[in-house]
Amino acid sequence: MAKMYYENDSNPEILKGRKIAIIGYGSQGHAHALNLHDSGFDVVVGLRPGSQGRKKAEEAGLMVADTAEAARMGDLIMMLVPDEKQSDIFRNEIEPNLSAGNVLMFAHGFNITFQQIIAPAFTDVIMVAPKGPGHTVRSQYQEGKGVPSLIAVYQDDSGKARDYALAYACGIGAGRAGILETSFREETETDLFGEQAVLCGGVTELMKAGFETLVEAGYQPEIAYFECIHEMKLIIDLINQGGFGYMRYSVSDTAEYGDYITGKKIITEETRKTMRNILADIQSGRFASDWIAENKAGGRAMFLATRRKESEHQLETVGAELRKMMSWLKK
Ligand code: NAD
Ligand code: MG
Repeated sequence: MAKMYYENDSNPEILKGRKIAIIGYGSQGHAHALNLHDSGFDVVVGLRPGSQGRKKAEEAGLMVADTAEAARMGDLIMMLVPDEKQSDIFRNEIEPNLSAGNVLMFAHGFNITFQQIIAPAFTDVIMVAPKGPGHTVRSQYQEGKGVPSLIAVYQDDSGKARDYALAYACGIGAGRAGILETSFREETETDLFGEQAVLCGGVTELMKAGFETLVEAGYQPEIAYFECIHEMKLIIDLINQGGFGYMRYSVSDTAEYGDYITGKKIITEETRKTMRNILADIQSGRFASDWIAENKAGGRAMFLATRRKESEHQLETVGAELRKMMSWLKK
């Protein structure tokens, strides 16, 4: 079992008298800024002049400045803007305002791992990545708890990089839950692999293939939607709560028997080979350079066209109709 760190392993004093600039006020940004502020640290939020987040951050009692100004003021600078915008923002607004001893921080390793951001040698480069969405990072903190987080050190000029990461992680509440150490490379490659092969790409194509198989065979799309898409959440909640064993205990023996004899026919040796190839493309940087090119030269043409095409699939209209019957779902 990997070593876990908790509040007792950290020294919050290392952040006292130092300013923490949180760049961005979205999902993660608002949670980090508010939790650190409530933990007694000195926070400034960096945003564009016309940004929507500005009013929200000010109303929450936080100091707000333009991005470049916040970077200049900050001793620690946490990049919580979208990953695909980070390298431009870094080059134009952050880098010119870095000084010796500053700590550059990330919640995801993509831009450092794939060298879209190259930090000056006189800075520390660290990661604090909560394993949950920002609203949970905030709500757990307010309940006196926290969301487990990863920390990593990429560049340690001060010799104290790890202490900064631990203190910051505890400042957002992660020390109450548990902190795990990783590397930028491990976090980035496993994150990309998980979302592509399993969580987003794998799951949606699996559900779509099941839905289409039933509809092609003449079953009603509404019934196909319930069985192959809607009910995924029930199964995932059971696994989330108690692992595969608890899920199999909770479903019928018929479902459990079907699980054992059918799963391996869907995920074959061929599928596993494909997974290893996907991982290799991530490790080599090929996936990253394709995605960076799509954002730069391509104007996201393929990305946006696919988004439109996916939104027009029959399963989306069927799902929208069925959700109207579910009064408990939030809009
Ligand atoms: P988000 O899209 O929710 O928020 C982005 C913020 O950046 C917004 O406040 C936006 O106004 C601001 N912004 C956009 N362009 C800007 C600019 N040019 N200058 C200044 N501010 C600008 O992003 P997020 O989901 O919080 O992701 C931030 C980082 O956290 C990413 O590195 C992401 O990988 C990481 N992360 C996210 C989650 C998650 O659950 N959302 C979990 C772990 C790590
Ligand atoms: Mg992720």
